Amino acid sequence: MALDLKQIRSEFPILQRKLPNGKQLVYFDNAATSQKPRCVISAMSNYYEQYNSNAHRANHTLADEATTALETARENIAKFFGTSPSQLIYTSGATEAINLVAFSWARENLRRDDIVVLTEMEHHADIVPWQQLSKEIGIEVRYVPINTETYKLDMEAFSIAIQDSSLVCVVHTSNVLGVRNPIEEIIKLSHSAGAKVLLDCAQSAPHEKINFDGLGADFIAISAHKMAGPTGIGCLLVKKDIMIQMTPFMTGGSMIKTVTTEGSTFQDGHALFETGTPRIAEAIGWGAAVEWLNQFEMKEIHSHIHKIASWTSIEMKKIPGIMIYGDPERSDSSGAISFLHESIQSLDMALLLDEGGFAVRTGHHCAQPLMDALSVPSTNRASFWIYNTMDEAKLFIKHLKYIVERFA
Ligand code: PLP
Repeated sequence: MALDLKQIRSEFPILQRKLPNGKQLVYFDNAATSQKPRCVISAMSNYYEQYNSNAHRANHTLADEATTALETARENIAKFFGTSPSQLIYTSGATEAINLVAFSWARENLRRDDIVVLTEMEHHADIVPWQQLSKEIGIEVRYVPINTETYKLDMEAFSIAIQDSSLVCVVHTSNVLGVRNPIEEIIKLSHSAGAKVLLDCAQSAPHEKINFDGLGADFIAISAHKMAGPTGIGCLLVKKDIMIQMTPFMTGGSMIKTVTTEGSTFQDGHALFETGTPRIAEAIGWGAAVEWLNQFEMKEIHSHIHKIASWTSIEMKKIPGIMIYGDPERSDSSGAISFLHESIQSLDMALLLDEGGFAVRTGHHCAQPLMDALSVPSTNRASFWIYNTMDEAKLFIKHLKYIVERFA
């Protein structure tokens, strides 16, 4: 069933926005962050206006309401990702979720010379924590290369790299190339090699059903703000038997059972990793986002994005001097189109597109090792989501052609 775009767009107030130069906003920067529907914004303001209170602390009506809302959101978000609430640790986003694995699991369970396998297409969020841990305890970090013609992971190199490894960390879908990695095979191969698996699902969760229990990954990092939720929240999904191997990397209020001047005892489960006042408004907002997304099939969202991305990519390739990095026409691509023009600098391209009302991302996309592999310093990236339309894509192609004819 086709999405009702008129209805969907009417739920996102920001899409009506005109830029200071009078141009209608066309938002193609969804891989950076998605826009938020009115129900998410209202759920958060309703919390602040009606029952703002701390959770898990006091015994009064507002505190009960805040606690219930925080935990109901956890239940709904966990269900959305095919798992139980006890396996969901709220974090500030995918970055904190990956750092949590590094600090709370890896620092505790890995030793000098243990091997952590990454890929060349990881976001910095899934590179720097491992480099830091390597400095701290001497783990070895290995990188699986990509094939720069197909933009796929070199699975032969992958099979070699995972031998004797303890942890394999892979981005489910690349934020730069839109390439979806064969995560099912990656999980199977890694587990047979005796390694745990961490998937970075920041880019896939907005358009693909993630079933944590079904997939069998040990850890999954997710970001709310790319899937209609607010900034400042995400989660780490963790297998039950792995969570008990983790120790907290932040300590203080909420995560304790008792504290005396002699020492402290700690909570079990996700509470052990959620120190201090929780992200209450953000969790409520994310819960509302998930409820909003539940009215769609993720497959419908994916095929909508794919239709726009593949048409746009085909049209872009007809424009002289445009090079595309990745294969947006592939049916499992996320819809991100990274591109460059051979003679127009990416920053100039971004400003010229912005003049026409088009918001695209420009830069290294927090993936400098991937930029090095592609031998480019940066790219422009157009990325689409549920509310984008073919009409917007047509306007984009028209404006891109105008830029190239006028400035190349
Ligand atoms: N991983 C990938 C693939 C991303 O695209 C991003 C954000 O751009 C992140 C991790 C970081 O996510 P967050 O902003 O939730 O920390």
